Amino acid sequence: MLEAQGPSHGCQRRNPGGDPASSTERMLEVRPGLYLGGAAAVEELDHLREAGITAVLTVDSEPAFKAGAGLEGLRSLFVPALDKPETDLLSHLDRCVAFIGQARAEGRAVLVHCHAGISRSVAIVTAFLMKTDQLTFENAYEILQTLKPEAKMNEGFESQLKLYQAMGYEVDISSAIYKQYRLQKVTEKYPELQNLPQELFAVDPTTVSQGMKDEVLYKCRKCRRSLFRSSSILDHHEGSGSVAFAHKRMTPSLMLSPGSQAQCTSYFIEPVQWMEATLLGVMDGQLLCPKCSAKLGSFNWYGEQCSCGRWITPAFQIHKNRVDEMKMLPALGTQTRK
Ligand SMILES: [Zn+2]
Ligand SMILES: [Zn+2]
Repeated sequence: MLEAQGPSHGCQRRNPGGDPASSTERMLEVRPGLYLGGAAAVEELDHLREAGITAVLTVDSEPAFKAGAGLEGLRSLFVPALDKPETDLLSHLDRCVAFIGQARAEGRAVLVHCHAGISRSVAIVTAFLMKTDQLTFENAYEILQTLKPEAKMNEGFESQLKLYQAMGYEVDISSAIYKQYRLQKVTEKYPELQNLPQELFAVDPTTVSQGMKDEVLYKCRKCRRSLFRSSSILDHHEGSGSVAFAHKRMTPSLMLSPGSQAQCTSYFIEPVQWMEATLLGVMDGQLLCPKCSAKLGSFNWYGEQCSCGRWITPAFQIHKNRVDEMKMLPALGTQTRK
């Protein structure tokens, strides 16, 4: 007992140069000045100083730093996120990548960390490598896994990074990819669907007169009521027969391929405001024209299959033969303004 506490033993265990091994165990230098780590990396501010790190991105359930003490000169960004497939990391990627990029542009060394340094932080750094080096998801992830074999992001983050790639390394909230992603997230989050976020709904085209110049308007074939705009259509790749029919769960294969949907007899669209009352509290049902009650199509929060074989989840489906396309001329688009 006594000998274990002997001062000579304690001295011999420590490296004379300030224990340089400790910081490399806690974090990995992915690129010069870009570090990846777990919670241990930020336990002691001294370790950050040793590595010259002055910018820290925390992607975790709680912030790494309490306000105050010893943080002079340290820039930090906290992104609240659990390591679960359903966690929405995609919506935060732009500001995470911007934070890392800006810090590096200023000559700062940056640490990206989560709790274990395995999934969330790996996903963020993968996104950064994808964007800065224009790499595919697979290539960027492989680089990280070569450097850190235990790196393994959850499958939800993998799909999100593939969407990030499909959007051109920038989260475009007006894109069909992002709209469909948001709808899927909402479906996971609100299984009872008592409460739908308003921003989920496209504005009713009868209430807007602006911003429609180059768009096509879709009207009820029977009563001419305006129903939705072309920007609300969520395009999808055609399914391929029996293969597509076997896949009931949607995968990230829902990607854009506008104009290639000869087989599809329906438009799959984002929900529009006039649907709101119909969609609440039920998992599926018919979509009727809000003016003349003609049957237009159907919806199903669990998804529906397009005539081309592709499953789309959730699905808001309007039969093409129930609506007419109207090209919006600038003069018509402005006539109701003011
Ligand atoms: Zn289809
Ligand atoms: Zn109608």
